[in-house]
Amino acid sequence: MISVNIHEYISFDNDKWLMYQVPDINFWTDTKTKGSAYCYAEHGKLNIFISSDWLNHRSNEFKIELVKHELAHGMFGHIGFMKGKTKAQRQLFNIVADCSIHVNTANPKILEEGTGGKPCTYDNCGLKQLPPEYLYHKLWDAAQEKMDKFQAWVDEHLDDDFWKIKPNKDADLDSQIIKDSISSNLEKAIAKGVPIPDTIPGGVGGAASATDLDYDYLFNQPVPKEPWLSDLEQIIRNYNSKHVTSSYKREPRNPIHPDILQKGRATTFPKSRFLFAVDCSGSMNIKMVERAISTISQHIEPGENKLLIFDTKVSKVFDITDTDSIKQALRKYYGGTHLLPVFEYANANDQLVFYTDGGFWDIDNIHLASKFKYKPVFILTESWYHDSISKHAHVITTY
Ligand SMILES: [Zn+2]
Repeated sequence: MISVNIHEYISFDNDKWLMYQVPDINFWTDTKTKGSAYCYAEHGKLNIFISSDWLNHRSNEFKIELVKHELAHGMFGHIGFMKGKTKAQRQLFNIVADCSIHVNTANPKILEEGTGGKPCTYDNCGLKQLPPEYLYHKLWDAAQEKMDKFQAWVDEHLDDDFWKIKPNKDADLDSQIIKDSISSNLEKAIAKGVPIPDTIPGGVGGAASATDLDYDYLFNQPVPKEPWLSDLEQIIRNYNSKHVTSSYKREPRNPIHPDILQKGRATTFPKSRFLFAVDCSGSMNIKMVERAISTISQHIEPGENKLLIFDTKVSKVFDITDTDSIKQALRKYYGGTHLLPVFEYANANDQLVFYTDGGFWDIDNIHLASKFKYKPVFILTESWYHDSISKHAHVITTY
């Protein structure tokens, strides 16, 4: 990298306030990098790299916006925020930080003309105008279960190289020093009567909304959840909470020190499984079964919890999260529908959930539902025997 005397490349005549910042910035370039600018912190100083093609072959107006953009990363403490983050996290933050900068601190239209790329704005990224740190946390949380979609979204919008520089161990301290020096340089300019644009220091003001925004819409088509799926989710939540509370107990004695009572994993509580029994008689709609399975596999741990495919017997048993094998198997089975084999398979402590049209050939066996500690749940796709079943079990209807 080559040190640059930025005054040889940029005229600050129309942006005199920036001249007060320049002495505290190290500018760099090299001859091989094309179409790039980024900033980083070193020894308490802001460093800005601008590739030589942009330095030599872009308008003054463009280069001014570029410097303002990089200065804004320093001014808003973005460099410190990047510390300790993974590549994917830095990429995400780069997007939301740029959205904030492009509200009014640097003009995205002018940058777009010079770069040929599409600088991030809240508008073109489909984001609400909120502080970048807040957006970062919301989006990162929302991304956890759909990293593939998340990465595709990032790749589509990322148009900056700020994320590429991994902050060093002192980056947060450096970042603070840089923020302070930028504001003291602004004060110097003001003291000399130099006009400061009213957008500086800009960024997005205002408090973050307290409402819990749902950023899932970025990664998922907004399909409203059907009531029966929400009901199923509630059953799963209830099961999980029972499961967790009953798996702890107080041990009377700590083996190290006999006077200390300790909390430990219980082994004496009866084991409870979540069993999802799918009717595979010909009348079942496979697409709907698959949606139920997706919902369950998001919330239920693999292991003891099983999915049963049943007709006149329990034909097949799967780990409940093995969705691919389950989906393949569902297409193979076909037959009548019997309650008894499922009731016999399950233990009295299991949470049993049926997915069925309710057309049981042995509906008389429904009274056996009373053997279960937790009331069995029937998700019914048809009204067959609805009344008889609801006398003995919890019923959710999809129709
Ligand atoms: Zn940037």
